[in-house]
Amino acid sequence: METVGKVAGITYRLARLKRCRNITVRVLGNGEVRVSAPFQEPISSVERVIKANKKKLEKTIVIQKQEHELYGHTWEHGDTFLFHGEPHTLHILPGAEDSLSVSKGLFSITYTDFPPSKQAISLSLKGLYRKAARERVKRLVNIWAEKLGLDIPPITIRDSKKRWGSCSSRGNLNFSLRSACLSDEDLSYLVLHEMAHLVHFNHSARFYAFLDLHLPAWKEHQQKMYSLQRRADLTP
Ligand SMILES: [Zn+2]
Repeated sequence: METVGKVAGITYRLARLKRCRNITVRVLGNGEVRVSAPFQEPISSVERVIKANKKKLEKTIVIQKQEHELYGHTWEHGDTFLFHGEPHTLHILPGAEDSLSVSKGLFSITYTDFPPSKQAISLSLKGLYRKAARERVKRLVNIWAEKLGLDIPPITIRDSKKRWGSCSSRGNLNFSLRSACLSDEDLSYLVLHEMAHLVHFNHSARFYAFLDLHLPAWKEHQQKMYSLQRRADLTP
């Protein structure tokens, strides 16, 4: 059940959830405010939380909207996407079959069902990114395994929206298909980061010392990846 409300000048969408214990307020990528609350929670408590966080929320809304305008995707002909560290312009054309080809900063996509929906374009691009991420990550995992003297771990490419990569307690490494948007240097850092977790599972001082030792400039790559978060978004 979703309702729309407004308090202290902030418009929000409220969802009442069964298994929700607390009131949570989130600002989405487009600047929209989403609140989730337990069923029995009175609206006055929801409003109190929003009022208490008014300043912080307003600031976040402005930043999100600006970033959305700068880097958010239109999913239309001429939109640009980051791939292998380079901007690629989207060319959408009608065609006898559905196809996608990549060359010199260009994604040429043809669809029989023209014009395609954002979802259809997203699906095509995700397929491309997944394949590229798998190939590039595998190659880098082999290189780092050799350098670090580690066994080659199992790799999974996932459609994760927030995390670039993760390492499970069993030593499986997961990478987001979005990682195909990174340059070779940034992707190499990401792979090293996840492989370092095979040695030091947590983000401990030893973990960072390990990064310092093997890639002294790792912080620059980390910063770059933070800044690319929105441009790497492939979900319409
Ligand atoms: Zn980590």
